[in-house]
Amino acid sequence: MIPVVRSAAEIADVVRGWKAHGHSVAFVPTMGSLHEGHRALVVAAHGVADRVVVSIFVNPLQFGPSEDFERYPRDVDQDVAFLSDAPVDVVFCPSTEDVYPAGADRTSRVTAGPVGATFEGATRPGHFDGVLTVVTRLCDMVAPDYLVMGQKDAQQVFLVTHVASRWQPPVEVVPVGTVRADDGLALSSRNAYLSGAERHSALVIPAALRAAGDQSTGRRALKAAQVILSQAPGLGLDYLAIVDPHTFGTRADEATGGEGLMIVAARVGSTRLIDNALLTFGH
Ligand code: AMP
Repeated sequence: MIPVVRSAAEIADVVRGWKAHGHSVAFVPTMGSLHEGHRALVVAAHGVADRVVVSIFVNPLQFGPSEDFERYPRDVDQDVAFLSDAPVDVVFCPSTEDVYPAGADRTSRVTAGPVGATFEGATRPGHFDGVLTVVTRLCDMVAPDYLVMGQKDAQQVFLVTHVASRWQPPVEVVPVGTVRADDGLALSSRNAYLSGAERHSALVIPAALRAAGDQSTGRRALKAAQVILSQAPGLGLDYLAIVDPHTFGTRADEATGGEGLMIVAARVGSTRLIDNALLTFGH
């Protein structure tokens, strides 16, 4: 059974012991409800470091007032059992008091800046401040050498990479490609909310990304994706855009060279889904 530690003092002790033996540490922060996407992060973590810590903490700061913080699925025992055959050394389940000793509401936030106010941040004001604040707090406690995160949340990886590169010592963010179900839908803990019919509608999201991948310019890629997305009447498109993966600034042009990251967010019923794909133009 993988050991579970629940306090900041305990995890600091464990990591100190490893570091005294010269071991490097990779950290995989999660909100639990683990699936094969999380497992891929753990496997990547094991590939870069000697020791792997997975945290499970549903972070109140990154949920808006009308979002699903209360109904977010929580089952730590099931998550620990899921990880039992994965290369994990410790599962860290901190209390809210350990993460936010002053109280979640009274904690000073790490601010995400202008990129944090676009796309996900435009629809979810304060979301990325909450993400950067929790990642900073968790890394204070875990003191990792590597932070392993999913490219599925591309804007999150972009912002965390920026912040973590300025820490002293810097922490290297290791991005991991999106794991998908056989039908193409990106795995997400929120997929559990979807009815069968909703899941069927949601499949236009990966289909749109695939159609975009066949196009030679940004403008054509956007058009191709829009056509597919419009085929699911129940789908409420929040945004569809192509950004420069190095700046997260919008890029949708007729230029045929280079890369663009297509990002999409849509509501299916009451469930909000996001996905993305890196496109190469000019082929
Ligand atoms: P979450 O528990 O949803 O906050 O996600 C924890 C980490 O798992 C984040 O770095 C996510 O980007 C990553 N993740 C979530 N879904 C996937 C997926 N389908 N493939 C790869 N990584 C994922």
